[in-house]
Amino acid sequence: MKKKKIICISIIAFLLVAFSIGSSVFYKNYKKEQKIKQEKLIAQKLVKKTNEKYAFYLENKIIENPQDETSKLFNQVLEEEKKNEEINSEEIKSFINLENIETSINSINEEISNYDITLLNNFSKKQVINSLSKDVDKNTVLKIYNQNKFIKKLKEEKEKRKKYLDKLLILKEELSDINAVKNLFYINKDNLVAKNNDALTKLQNLNTKYNLNLKIELEQPKPITQNSSVKELAGVPILCYHGVLDEPWGIESLFVKTSEFDAQMKYLKENGYTTLFASEISKANNYEKPVIITFDDGYKDVFTNAFPILKKYNLKANIYIISAWLNGDVYMSIADLQEMASSSLIEVGSHTVNHKALAKLSESDIEYELKTSQEDLKKITGQNITGIAYPTGSFDSRVTNIASKYYNYGLSTINGKENPQKLNTYTLRRIYVYRKYNINNFMNLF
Ligand SMILES: [Zn+2]
Repeated sequence: MKKKKIICISIIAFLLVAFSIGSSVFYKNYKKEQKIKQEKLIAQKLVKKTNEKYAFYLENKIIENPQDETSKLFNQVLEEEKKNEEINSEEIKSFINLENIETSINSINEEISNYDITLLNNFSKKQVINSLSKDVDKNTVLKIYNQNKFIKKLKEEKEKRKKYLDKLLILKEELSDINAVKNLFYINKDNLVAKNNDALTKLQNLNTKYNLNLKIELEQPKPITQNSSVKELAGVPILCYHGVLDEPWGIESLFVKTSEFDAQMKYLKENGYTTLFASEISKANNYEKPVIITFDDGYKDVFTNAFPILKKYNLKANIYIISAWLNGDVYMSIADLQEMASSSLIEVGSHTVNHKALAKLSESDIEYELKTSQEDLKKITGQNITGIAYPTGSFDSRVTNIASKYYNYGLSTINGKENPQKLNTYTLRRIYVYRKYNINNFMNLF
């Protein structure tokens, strides 16, 4: 009897323990499931919230007056996207000028340095999530976020921007390869004409198929009647500078050293050159040695380093200002510009509002860039703004047409001098002055 009782109690005790263990496990699982359910719900809400918050971006709508930084950023992305809608090889070809490969490489360099690929890096999945959810398990949210339209679009956008930049880099490489063998050929229309069989083989082996897709032909014997010694027309040199700085922060070749700039200006002064404003170019024939000095972009160092030297030798120059970028880190301030403009040595021109490649913009955007910068610069300087320098040298017939509505002249980056009697008024040629030039190189530019 006693034995039976003990067995009975043992079984009951065992059952009690088993039940309590079982129910506690069941309860734990139940709680865990509830928590996951709840987190999913919160995550879904966050996804909805983001999609709503950035609906304008998802629908590709540029908003009129962006207030917060995020909206401003997405506006910029959308605007650039509109511009680069089809990043095809045709568009990228606007950078290529085979007649002047070095200038083309410079334009590409400028585009590369202005193209901000890190623009969207602050919007990685994790950062967006961190900013929105504090109490939720990140892994749960992450899983749901991967399905999110907003994140998907951001990812696509980043890839697109990277693709565009890669294309620019390849194009630059191709052009550099051609530039390295430029003594082997000359240009005839769109063709590279190889000077001999050896040159032909070398050119055909160049890796330039991707962007450039050049036609290469062998030089044909010239007919005897052809006049092979056509003299180059004399013309006015329009010098193109960017910065005057000993320690460049940007594309090195575009920053002339202060001492070199001083030596160059001294040379002009001591050798009877007359510096003219670009607006005076049609009168250049009245001078024996006319020269026009131009600065693009409006860097601070032009005010601090170049301007004192211009004053020292009493030389005139033109500066082309990006109107929305005044007062920026490396750009001159409004007060700097006003001081220069009132000195009688400086003519101010436009370099647009935002330094975008104009040939890639819609006509209304081109109009905005040209008209607004002109109005704003006139307000700031009190000068009539009669000239424009096309950013990165990018223009097409729409750009020159609109430029002729607002300006008396337009500056390109096509290499060469200008004949005052046959001016390319809206595509004026210029001569780059590079950092590597010594005074002899400089003298040879004229
Ligand atoms: Zn520029």
